[in-house]
Amino acid sequence: MNARAAPATTAKPLLKVLLCSPRGFCAGVVRAIDTVEQTLARYGAPVYVRHEIVHNRYVVESLKAKGAIFVEELDEIPDTTAPVIFSAHGVPKSVPSQAKARNFFALDATCPLVTKVHREAEIHHKRGRHILLIGHAGHPEVVGTIGQLPPGAITLVESVDEVRAFVPRDPKSLAYVTQTTLSVDDTAEIVAALKARFPDIHGPHKEDICYATTNRQEVVKRVAPMVEAMVVVGSPNSSNTQRLREVAERAGCPRAALVQRAADIDWSVFGSIASLGVTAGASAPEVLVEEVIGGFAERYEVKVETVTTADEDMFFPLPRVLREGDAVK
Ligand code: SF4
Repeated sequence: MNARAAPATTAKPLLKVLLCSPRGFCAGVVRAIDTVEQTLARYGAPVYVRHEIVHNRYVVESLKAKGAIFVEELDEIPDTTAPVIFSAHGVPKSVPSQAKARNFFALDATCPLVTKVHREAEIHHKRGRHILLIGHAGHPEVVGTIGQLPPGAITLVESVDEVRAFVPRDPKSLAYVTQTTLSVDDTAEIVAALKARFPDIHGPHKEDICYATTNRQEVVKRVAPMVEAMVVVGSPNSSNTQRLREVAERAGCPRAALVQRAADIDWSVFGSIASLGVTAGASAPEVLVEEVIGGFAERYEVKVETVTTADEDMFFPLPRVLREGDAVK
């Protein structure tokens, strides 16, 4: 509904846009997308990708147009010499095993910060600790982390209530790890509940929530109380994007909406606002942020100011086979 549509002759209302920085692509997403693009450039199409390489429809459709074929499971891939890429979210150990058994040329685009959590879990397991994973059931990263260890080695906890209900085999031999894209504040509460119940629990030296998730939430907390509405550009299946919308609401922004792109904006949500915060999840490309601001600029006289709370210079190198001159196939 074009509630704010105005005749061309009428002056548009002013809209101050506070653009959050950092926003959008993180180093893990850049690496994952580059992995698919470089693999296509080097080996040609098709390139198979298990699961959405990152949770963004625009990115996935762009890569499909270049020759990537997306599948949910390796069973969907015919016998092939074409490369097979695992998404940024990480995979259970059974997936590389299955790829090896089928002689697939596999490339792993798992974010190194997710791999770090996998290694932490393995170390705790080797030391005989039962692991609690703080995360959201069904998210591919959670499925991948649980799948690093034998069944029963990891228990998922999603809330303080689940921490209270958890019955350990040995309360003195516990550890916790977390999904990388959680709400910083919710996770702090769950960790506090764990530490209160199990003072001997082992955890990461620094939390597992990644720098990109933390930084994007931090700037939203700064901007949200200063604006009448907030737009989070990103996909509904992106965990860090959903958390940004929640953080905006909790930080005092009365209207926080997640939009995939300009065409999806429900103008009835925004009404006669004079200030708007804009951010983007870690898997949302900047072109979509520009498109969304462009959508507002058709209805408002937009004045953009950037609010920066952190500088980011994180970079993750591509998988080794793509860095080497002579790729091994
Ligand atoms: S959001 Fe964090 S963990 Fe996920 S890909 Fe980006 S840097 Fe890696």
